[in-house]
Amino acid sequence: MRIVFGVVGLGLCAAHAEAIAEPNANAVPYATQADPETLVLDASTAGRGFAISTLHIPARPGPFTFVYPEWIPGEHGPTGPLAAIARIEVTANGEPLAWHRDASDMYAFHVRVPQGASAIQVRFTALLNAPDPMSTHSLAVINWNRMLFYQSDIDYRHYYVKASIILPQGWGYGTALAAADRVDQRVDFTEVPLERLVDSPLDCGRYYKEILLWQNGDAHHWLDMFADEPQDLDVPSNLLGAYKRMTPEALALFGSRHWHDFHSLLVLSNKIGFTGLEHEESSLSGAPAGFMSDPQSQQLSGDTLTHEFSHAWNGKYRRPWDLTTRNYQIPQATDLLWVYEGLSQYLGDLLSFRTGIRRPGGYPELLAQLYSQMATEPGRSSQAMVDIDVAAPYLYEARGEYPSLRLTAEDLQTEGELLWLDVDTIIRTETGDRKSLDTFLHLFTEPRLTGPITSAYTREDIERLLQQVVPYDWHGFFQQHVYEIAARPPTGEIARAGWRLVYSARPNEFSDDGAQWLTYGFNIDKDGSVSDVRENSPAWRAGMAPGMKIETVDGEEYSPSVLEYRMEQAQKIRQPTKFVVSQDGWAETLEVSYFDGPRYPHLERIEGRPDLLAKIMAPHAKP
Ligand SMILES: [Zn+2]
Repeated sequence: MRIVFGVVGLGLCAAHAEAIAEPNANAVPYATQADPETLVLDASTAGRGFAISTLHIPARPGPFTFVYPEWIPGEHGPTGPLAAIARIEVTANGEPLAWHRDASDMYAFHVRVPQGASAIQVRFTALLNAPDPMSTHSLAVINWNRMLFYQSDIDYRHYYVKASIILPQGWGYGTALAAADRVDQRVDFTEVPLERLVDSPLDCGRYYKEILLWQNGDAHHWLDMFADEPQDLDVPSNLLGAYKRMTPEALALFGSRHWHDFHSLLVLSNKIGFTGLEHEESSLSGAPAGFMSDPQSQQLSGDTLTHEFSHAWNGKYRRPWDLTTRNYQIPQATDLLWVYEGLSQYLGDLLSFRTGIRRPGGYPELLAQLYSQMATEPGRSSQAMVDIDVAAPYLYEARGEYPSLRLTAEDLQTEGELLWLDVDTIIRTETGDRKSLDTFLHLFTEPRLTGPITSAYTREDIERLLQQVVPYDWHGFFQQHVYEIAARPPTGEIARAGWRLVYSARPNEFSDDGAQWLTYGFNIDKDGSVSDVRENSPAWRAGMAPGMKIETVDGEEYSPSVLEYRMEQAQKIRQPTKFVVSQDGWAETLEVSYFDGPRYPHLERIEGRPDLLAKIMAPHAKP
């Protein structure tokens, strides 16, 4: 299902890729603009964790197959939550219709449509909080792909759906979909191709605020916020000012726009927490309750909205050719995520600093943290970056112990960021700072102004455009860093940017989980539960493992401050620290020999070299 494309380049140009007929998207769509599928979502019970979907699906007499979306764009995997749908009932002409699930494709459902019927009706219950939380007492996130079935094998650009939602009493909503009508709590949207519907999720809730961030003629950028508590919607004015610079900075970065009305949708809820999914004219983000009022939270995670926003250009408009499928049952190949996700990880950070959402000047500290993370994960010594990309459909779902021993989707994003910083500094150095990654992005996202459309690219397209920016062995560069096992972390780019990586006892504000990882070599939760142990670290050598809980440190009950104090003591007296740990009902004492005190990563300027990071992070939009 997932094939390693492009290891030596596949020689496909974008036009050719577009021209390949999609074998599983050739069925004649019965749902047309004149006779669309209709979806009425009764979400009046959203606060109780479920909604009821009633679908009218145009069909023809005889065997008919309807399907539940499986491969979800942006989620990069077969993540359609089959286990979250219940009580499926099918009727035709008011009579019950027997259905059966396909024995090998569990997302496909077969019926025999009786003579005289031109549609079937399907009604089912969607559980909103499986597998991940999507609703609370006061708000809900509606992803339409979870709420519908559609005719199998159609091309989603030519299959129309008209959606309606019934909201709980007193709730408001936000979405990029255009509303045709609203009566009380029922909102009817205009019919759109299935691709557009699924690409336009909806947030709704009791406490909400819509803020206009930017306007130019009839183009707008909105911030739609929904919160569990009304006070979480109060955004300090200087922070709001920074968010209002998102579009001007993005326009300076890309030189183009492929949306008319963009909605940055944001739910503020501790139950839902950090989440993000990109779309062409909206983005769907989640953050803990106090996110928009807490400056420290903004400093740590200020790319939450800017990362998804950058995907409107990189990922949604420009899309890897093998991620450009025509319906949700066709498997997606993810080998080019080093562009789709890696580049957006870098651009999300650029935008967060250029807008001032994050404190200007903070990027060197963030980079130091990323480098130290990458330097202490052994997975990369045996796997090429492209292998993380190819396996992404499963790595994004990875849970469990020893995350540092295996590569995860987080590594894909982080290493991708360092890769594109590398590209940026090479362009700046090779052109005497006349050009930058911005120059490439202007070419990459041409033409300047369109509506929401998709344009496919290959690895060769990327290398050709970079060659246009500045002659360089770009093929060899990506071959070395992406397609072959490379030393980690690469540090050429920080030296080129005028900085070097150093360690000291002074805390790094982005090392929010303390110094234990780089010192003893374990990660712990607040209660002392060990979640990961770094290979060959002092804790590893002492026999510590995930699943253990630290009870005492040198005889004293564990707390973060006790641990910190004992680390300082060990440095003075140079004696092993004694940890009493419990695991599965057993307790034991482990002696960890570490005597060098706290250790945090930082970047330090190299004298005499120009500071490229300052230039990269400076605002680019004209005031
Ligand atoms: Zn992303």
